[in-house]
Amino acid sequence: MIHYKTKEEIELMRISSLLVSHTLAEVAKIVRPGISTFELDAYAEQFIRDNGAAPSFKGYQDFPFACCISVNDAVVHGFPTKDALKDGDIVTVDVGVYKNGFHGDSAYTFAIGEIGEDVKQLLHVTKESLYKGIEKAVHGNRVGDIGYAVQNHTEKQYGYGVVRDLVGHGLGRKIHEEPQVPNYGKRGTGAKLKEGMVIAIEPMINMGTKNVYHDKDGWTVRTEDGKPAAHYEHNVAIQKGKPDILSSFSEIEVAEKANGNLCSDY
Ligand code: MG
Ligand code: MG
Repeated sequence: MIHYKTKEEIELMRISSLLVSHTLAEVAKIVRPGISTFELDAYAEQFIRDNGAAPSFKGYQDFPFACCISVNDAVVHGFPTKDALKDGDIVTVDVGVYKNGFHGDSAYTFAIGEIGEDVKQLLHVTKESLYKGIEKAVHGNRVGDIGYAVQNHTEKQYGYGVVRDLVGHGLGRKIHEEPQVPNYGKRGTGAKLKEGMVIAIEPMINMGTKNVYHDKDGWTVRTEDGKPAAHYEHNVAIQKGKPDILSSFSEIEVAEKANGNLCSDY
């Protein structure tokens, strides 16, 4: 069942989504070679709690951390570790917060120092595909229009692998609500998008094969060929006319540049 939100509820959700964006911007300020993802997770959790919210993922289906932090060939659901990040790594931080009865949920892939040109392109194209999907997130369209836009941009144009096993989702009082929002699909198919829906659109794009496997920790999803993967996620309220993006990358992008992680000449 799809839960439609009132205008007031969407404004509460905007507060949650923007707190996630602020959290990711705080991470952007400190992520660099030498820091561990364990430190990033602790820092993010403290920031969330200092802002009167709870980390949505901690304890969700027994996930033990505030953030999913996925390095290089890890696509999503990575565990923070005490290993230091190295120059040339990419690291995805996916984080949710619960505040005022609603969840926000956003993800961002950071470059650590200087990364290869091919990886730079992967990040750039994945982020572009997120916005191409968002363009379609308006009243009257269907979920398949979003998936088609993401898949067409990444798989068709660049030959990347669109992960099939994991998808975007509705968002609200629960972190995962209906409908599912795949990053692949056919135009004009799937659930109808209607005013009041709030969805998380989150392309998970592999440089090589679309195939993934679960690590032995039971959580971390990795690319089958060991090539890197990128993941960007926004929360979008469906409206008539144009999409309303509740989260924001602008503060994150300013912070990552100031911090010398120069990948994103977006
Ligand atoms: Mg997420
Ligand atoms: Mg999500």
